[in-house]
Amino acid sequence: MIKYLLGCASGHEFESWFRASADFDTQSRSGEIACPHCGSTEVSKLPMAPSVVTKRAALPAQPTPDAVPAAAGGGSSGAAVREALRAFTQKVIANTEDVGPRFAEEARKMHFGETEERQIRGSSTLEEAQELVEDGVPFGILPTPPEELN
Ligand SMILES: [Zn+2]
Repeated sequence: MIKYLLGCASGHEFESWFRASADFDTQSRSGEIACPHCGSTEVSKLPMAPSVVTKRAALPAQPTPDAVPAAAGGGSSGAAVREALRAFTQKVIANTEDVGPRFAEEARKMHFGETEERQIRGSSTLEEAQELVEDGVPFGILPTPPEELN
């Protein structure tokens, strides 16, 4: 989901959620978006960094600071955090299928039901990741790249 700040022809501002960035264009062109203040359908996007919400379904949830075991005696919490993140990455690797650079393609296919749902991992470019977010495809980012585990 993407949140946009919108403005109508009379200068009213309001926020609205869209499934994907393309949805705004489609809906505003067909007059489906109306200003809640005056009902005008002459609505345009105002500059704002879009807020993006992704479901974490493709990968298990990443450990939050709370979930990371506290280091006894203090002083080595950095190492404990790194160790927890390594363990998390290893668990993901053990439970996922490596699709390599086809990650974005495979994740999208699963999301749109073109292929069987399963746990996958792989790599994607920043651009591909951005497109997945825009399309509402859920995925997670590994805290430790698998190649750094060796
Ligand atoms: Zn208005």
